Amino acid sequence: MGNENNLIDGKAIAETIKNELISETEKFFQEKNIMPKLSVIIIGEDPASLFYVRMIERNCKKVNFQFEKHALTSDTNEDELLALIEQLNRDDKVYGIIVQTPLPSPINQQNIQKAVHPGKDVDCFNPVNMGNLAMGTPLFLPCTPNAVFEILKREKIEVEGKHVVIVGRSSIVGKPLSLILLLKQPNANATVTVCHSRTGNLAEYTRKADVIVAAAGKARLITGSMVTDNTVVIDVGTNEVEGKLVGDVNFEEVSKIASRITPVPGGVGPVTNMMLMKNTLQAAKNINNTV
Ligand code: NAP
Repeated sequence: MGNENNLIDGKAIAETIKNELISETEKFFQEKNIMPKLSVIIIGEDPASLFYVRMIERNCKKVNFQFEKHALTSDTNEDELLALIEQLNRDDKVYGIIVQTPLPSPINQQNIQKAVHPGKDVDCFNPVNMGNLAMGTPLFLPCTPNAVFEILKREKIEVEGKHVVIVGRSSIVGKPLSLILLLKQPNANATVTVCHSRTGNLAEYTRKADVIVAAAGKARLITGSMVTDNTVVIDVGTNEVEGKLVGDVNFEEVSKIASRITPVPGGVGPVTNMMLMKNTLQAAKNINNTV
């Protein structure tokens, strides 16, 4: 099929969500006199991390959340980091906690993820939250997989009873997305296949998909011959190639065939940013017993 109307505009979806969050935050403030506050811990001077934290701060401003940054030096040890997390866990003005990665190598990332209180774990990296999702009773949904879910819902792409092929099985994207799409609830109930680097003949799976979600971190992995004209293609990948940001999908080829497709940039990324804000508001509501 392939036509110029098959593009999914992630920026426009993110803008709509942002406006919804502004209204919800205002309503919450009127009811409870509380502004959601997100606390971010960053260690060292990694440029990508600094950029990402600045973006979180900007997004907090956009939806009228409070934001605080704890910038620690790169010689911070695990005990010092755990002590700060514990302080933020106990701070009843902080509703969401993010510990920016990468962490200095002596710090054990899993210990840190486990230390963030599950109720403030807006990244949804604590194994307790992943376990809740696996049991079908999530407290939060992790941001990037939730962005894919939100895009499918808002674009009215029905996945119930449909075959979704996810390329990538990471704990951040592929695996939790498979759990979300398997939930017994409206807009989910999909039949899910998860592919990875050991999958033999990837194209055999993708060609049978109603929806392909590419989350492999391999530039232009999904080519035109791997999709059919009924396929919806959601590209999570962000890869830098010759100074340019490209997805895991060969957009030029696939956009001519797929029924719907997200671009990179301007697809999943902007919606992911808003999912973090959504989780922060949700955390504030949960802690203050507001549905
Ligand atoms: P990751 O931890 O590196 O995982 C990549 C997954 O893809 C692994 O499961 C790997 O298989 C699989 N894979 C690698 N090469 C493959 C191949 N040739 N065929 C099939 N599967 C293959 O990456 P991630 O953190 O999940 O991120 C994936 C991509 O999404 C990256 O480009 C990342 O930058 C991007 N991302 C975007 C956002 C956003 O908001 N837009 C957020 C997070 C991540 P094995 O398990 O066998 O190694």
